[in-house]
Amino acid sequence: MSRSVQENTVSAVLYGTPAVPGVVAAPTVRPGPRVHVAVTHEPIAESDRASELAAFRRAAATVADRLGGRAAAAHGAAAEVLAADAAMAADPGWLDKAAEQIAVGLPAGAAALAATDHFADLFTILGGLMAERVTDLRDVCDRVLAELAGAPEPGVPVPDRPSILLATDLAPADTAGLDPNLVLGLATSLGGPTSHTAIIARQLGLPCVVAVAGLDDIPAGTDILLDGAAGRITVRPSAEAVALATAEHRVAADRAAAWTGPGATADGHRVEILVNVQDGAGARAARHTPAEGVGLFRTELCFLDREFEPTPAEQAAVYTEVLDAYPDAKVVLRTLDAGSDKPLRFAEHPEEANPALGLRGIRITTDNGLLEHQLDAIATAASTRTAPTWVMAPMVSTAAEAKSFAALVRARGLVPGVMVEVPAAALLAEAILEHVDFVSIGTNDLAQYTMAADRMSPLLATLTDPWQPAVLSLVARTATAGRVLGKPVGVCGEAAADPLLACVLTGFGVTSLSAAASAVTGVGAALAATTLADCRRAAEAVLGTTDPADARAAARKALGL
Ligand code: PEP
Ligand code: MG
Repeated sequence: MSRSVQENTVSAVLYGTPAVPGVVAAPTVRPGPRVHVAVTHEPIAESDRASELAAFRRAAATVADRLGGRAAAAHGAAAEVLAADAAMAADPGWLDKAAEQIAVGLPAGAAALAATDHFADLFTILGGLMAERVTDLRDVCDRVLAELAGAPEPGVPVPDRPSILLATDLAPADTAGLDPNLVLGLATSLGGPTSHTAIIARQLGLPCVVAVAGLDDIPAGTDILLDGAAGRITVRPSAEAVALATAEHRVAADRAAAWTGPGATADGHRVEILVNVQDGAGARAARHTPAEGVGLFRTELCFLDREFEPTPAEQAAVYTEVLDAYPDAKVVLRTLDAGSDKPLRFAEHPEEANPALGLRGIRITTDNGLLEHQLDAIATAASTRTAPTWVMAPMVSTAAEAKSFAALVRARGLVPGVMVEVPAAALLAEAILEHVDFVSIGTNDLAQYTMAADRMSPLLATLTDPWQPAVLSLVARTATAGRVLGKPVGVCGEAAADPLLACVLTGFGVTSLSAAASAVTGVGAALAATTLADCRRAAEAVLGTTDPADARAAARKALGL
């Protein structure tokens, strides 16, 4: 890391992945070193093993109870995370693995560590969401070790003044217990935008940047300025820099609060602003935003807990709920994106070494009737609607897949489209668009597959940043194909939730942006504050860059920000 960060006078700017927007300036605080409980490996005599096992089980139960109690006192995502951690401390697989080790003479602490290493390796191999849970598991183990040793519970110290918390990664149980009056913002050197740190920061409304290169070199007590939307940390900022960033953020927040739609640039170029939903309740809640319709209904998320394929009637009822929330507006349903980090038991996934590159999305629903049954159910749900019902397939990689999907969808009176989330689909966007009426770009997977980097890996968050110029160039190419053929090209990945990137996407020629309900007004207001010509200038500028930080800076400059 550059010396300038450690020297105590010089300002420096670090970049990470934006996780929660907001601007805060404060001194930093760091979690104290975790209490290092000495773990002995001295073999336990056979006669003492039963009591050693009992001590281990008691410690694990105490930790589970404590975390469970905190879960009961918390709410929302924090409660879910704490409850999941409590369940980990009581997990029979983990407890039995440790018991096995104690049975052959390992002391309780060493046995807990061995069991934890075993499952951490397993989760890491499984990748995706499971790999993100390794931090939770290690945190639970640390708590059990402290309990066994009679040491204080590890965790984040309560700062004595309002501060910004910096850490390599935060244990979910620590993040869930943060006091937003004392912790004003968060930054981590690891962690992806879907890590627990980011999820809970979002719930607490704490500006947050993750995967910040060089963060670990900022000493505790250093004044910093954190801009969660830009993913930027200014070390030892000048008073003017703080005042400017705070004022800019206030303007953007006020603008967002005042934006009522419909989506358009300041000079009237229309861009539909849509919302991503996962069920009827989410769609009904989104009606309170100015979103003009639903740009992505992730249908697979309705059925993650099902053992058997839901019947056509059950499916139709679920889809009707979402369609009814937007009776007069466009709704885009995505057919089941089963596989990888979203396995559906009834899709009967085969064992695969690389599930993200395996039978996922459209690849697993075509030969077993799942796709046709789902399309029948969607057609039933849409039968009384007058507004358009659009249906798109995930993970399409060839024109042939698009062609056969389109035939099935048209046969049911629905409007066919496909997602562009595989580089092959972006490269052949024109050939694909010949067969379908629209495409929607899934930048989350497009980044994963373009950069060959697991979108869930906290270590690879910089590579899966949607601002990666290689990803942006595939998005631009797809938008151009849409313009040539006169067909709509939307974006429904996380990129569409970033107000600055939304302007760039508009400059590429994207015709709709679909984002989480919480991002709708920020995106709409950013577009309304710029002209199409400026968006085009920003789009051209980012295509001349070679890394995400430069791309962001080029876009800001072109937009006069
Ligand atoms: C995407 O990949 O960008 C997308 C919208 O789909 P999902 O995040 O559900 O994979
Ligand atoms: Mg996807």
